[in-house]
Amino acid sequence: MAEFDVIARYFTRPAPPSVAVGVGDDAALLSVRAGYQLAVSADMSVCGTHFFADADPEAIGWKSMAVNISDMAAMGADPRWATLSIALPEIDHDWLHGFSRGLFACADAYGVSLIGGDTTRGPLNIAITIMGEVPTGKALRRDAAQAGDDIWVSGTLGQAALWLQSRLGTMQLSAEDARRFAIAMHHPQPRVALGLALRDLAHAALDISDGLLADLGHILRASKLGAQLDWQALPKPVLTGDALAPALISSVVLAGGDDYELCFTAPLHQRARLSTLSQTLALPLTRIGVVTAAAELSVFDGDKQMPLQQKGYNHFG
Ligand code: ADP
Ligand code: MG
Repeated sequence: MAEFDVIARYFTRPAPPSVAVGVGDDAALLSVRAGYQLAVSADMSVCGTHFFADADPEAIGWKSMAVNISDMAAMGADPRWATLSIALPEIDHDWLHGFSRGLFACADAYGVSLIGGDTTRGPLNIAITIMGEVPTGKALRRDAAQAGDDIWVSGTLGQAALWLQSRLGTMQLSAEDARRFAIAMHHPQPRVALGLALRDLAHAALDISDGLLADLGHILRASKLGAQLDWQALPKPVLTGDALAPALISSVVLAGGDDYELCFTAPLHQRARLSTLSQTLALPLTRIGVVTAAAELSVFDGDKQMPLQQKGYNHFG
């Protein structure tokens, strides 16, 4: 089977009206609506780094698309189009079938069309570029936080990191917790509806992929500000099994990766609207601290400052 058959069989779908030319020509042609900016982002998923070699291909497909869509959510952009560049060690139909099913399940759930890509032989590697639309000037940038802003986070932090710890054998989860946290790890739900609503409510935003402290640190550096977080307010994993060691909880909540929740800053007068939004979306939104003029990041447990060693995931660390 040739690469063209793989593309035709697994990665070609009818193009929607916004795609004048999709898969099949040298380049795709897209129509961006007037008054909108094109938001573009890329994320690579590498076997052995982002997923285990024996991982369910459908989950790999879902997640490699989901992490890209999450970047659109974090920007306040409406995800529209994606390209897929994939290196495959061999043509394995079972694997390709599962992968493309997961990939399109996620793309369809969020209104994204696959408009092109590249297919080559090589060590399994999945590189997706995502494109979306955001009204001109409305994107949620990292450099837009203001001193005095509340800091908010969606959902729960640390669940995927706990699943990873149990998979690596450094701790044990109950069967029920392992099942729930595996979903957090393999089927993250990009917070697109939240990102769109935040265009008019938030100042700065990003998605948490490398851990809360590391990612919030990006907002603070870009905005030249600091933050004080309230440990007791942070949305932590709720376990049905044995309680975890405090050091493990703080490491997965503050520095565990793979959350794909949004962290954002907003002025105090938006609190009521944000709590209504949380109910509308049926998604917890938690106020976890404040942006400070002093450019330091600290976390307080009551009136005690917590020591911070872990700074989040670093590929070359
Ligand atoms: P070219 O040789 O002109 O670069 P390719 O043979 O690489 O073209 O690809 C043929 C067409 O298939 C192009 O439109 C390309 O965007 C698309 N394509 C290739 N691989 C993929 C893929 N994995 N998913 C979606 N579209 C793909
Ligand atoms: Mg090509």
